[in-house]
Amino acid sequence: MILGSVADDFTGATDLAGMLAEGGLRTTLVLGAPAENAAAPDADAVVVAMKTRTIPAGDAVAQSLAAWRWLARSGARQAYFKYCSTFDSTDKGNIGPVAEALWRETDEGPVVFVPSLPLNGRTVYRGHLFVFDQLLSDSGMRNHPLTPMTDSNLVRVLSRQTAVGVGLIRYDTVARGAAAVRAAAEVLAAEGRPFIVVDTLTDADLDVIGEACEGFALVTGGSGLALGLAPRLRPGAVATAATALPAIGGPVVCLSGSCSEATNAQVRNFAANHPVRRLDPIALAEGRDTAADAASWALAKLKDGPCLVSATASPAEVKAVQEKLGTDRAATVVEAALSHVAAELGRAGVRRFVVAGGETSGAVATALGISQLAVGAQIAPGVPWCVASGSVPVAVALKSGNFGGEAFFEQAIATAP
Ligand code: ADP
Repeated sequence: MILGSVADDFTGATDLAGMLAEGGLRTTLVLGAPAENAAAPDADAVVVAMKTRTIPAGDAVAQSLAAWRWLARSGARQAYFKYCSTFDSTDKGNIGPVAEALWRETDEGPVVFVPSLPLNGRTVYRGHLFVFDQLLSDSGMRNHPLTPMTDSNLVRVLSRQTAVGVGLIRYDTVARGAAAVRAAAEVLAAEGRPFIVVDTLTDADLDVIGEACEGFALVTGGSGLALGLAPRLRPGAVATAATALPAIGGPVVCLSGSCSEATNAQVRNFAANHPVRRLDPIALAEGRDTAADAASWALAKLKDGPCLVSATASPAEVKAVQEKLGTDRAATVVEAALSHVAAELGRAGVRRFVVAGGETSGAVATALGISQLAVGAQIAPGVPWCVASGSVPVAVALKSGNFGGEAFFEQAIATAP
């Protein structure tokens, strides 16, 4: 194993695994922390998908360290902490605390922070994260139900999450190439600022950063950094078309718990031509609605074609729900309901699931009992179809809230294995 990655959510993990596989690395995706004595998969890169983005920081640290220690024992030479391209976190963490723990566990050398994913409009300039033409804090991420991002300055954001010094490598240095970036990183680390946000505008910049980080014990970022790292990790590896997945077949159900702008538009688009069963968290919490009822509804609809069970709501609706139930309870109620629906449909023989939302995907994949995934072709950038190996194979597409165009659900259904 060359690269061992710990990802803070399931959609991010499939996104990264897809990038690494397309970069020519034999990649395995493991869902959830592996048992301490689990055998190492035979792969160049192993991505462990965790659900640690919004849990208490201490738990996120403990789980991420356990996953990394297993990867290191299995031979991983470089650690890759994967988080969201919109740096989803709160002032309490968990990007800073987890990175800090992994840094202490490795060599306390320079660590880059590279959320950029230019092909999805995420770039960093002068330390400020942009989502297409908007600063992160002006984008829909300011209204995220769990990790509202109201500050675009990543040096400031990260500094609030960790006591480790945070520095910045500006674009003028990146433009001078890999040697300049590496030298700047070493200077910053020597000055006591080893956590380094790096400006990134294009895929070519990711390539420069990938070269600069060669041999760094720990790197952190979104999936974009993999574009720059993969060619260095296995020289001679050729970018490959995605692995062909086995055919699964049968009805396709969509489940949505993301409240991002993109997912709201995708749900509206899907609802124009297909049945949608809405979940109201307050009705669920008060027992006026049940997940069992939503599951029966879906089973009936699936006889005629795809359908969607959705808690997706506008920022105003989310706010009203959170005021009534509290943020955590609102999230738990929705995640539990969608997990219940997924498990119920799985028991009834449904084998193809499209899931929108990072936290939601973690809950649903866990409810489906998935532990390892083969990664196939991408439906949209960062969202591959995957198949869980097991006695009964299941196909899942796990979509990060902000990914995909308006017709995402239709595209996922059309390309389902
Ligand atoms: P994304 O990928 O867009 O960040 P996530 O699934 O990670 O999506 O996060 C969305 C969170 O919002 C989940 O925890 C989900 O349970 C919660 N949620 C979904 N619908 C609602 C709603 N109507 N009101 C409040 N919270 C909600």
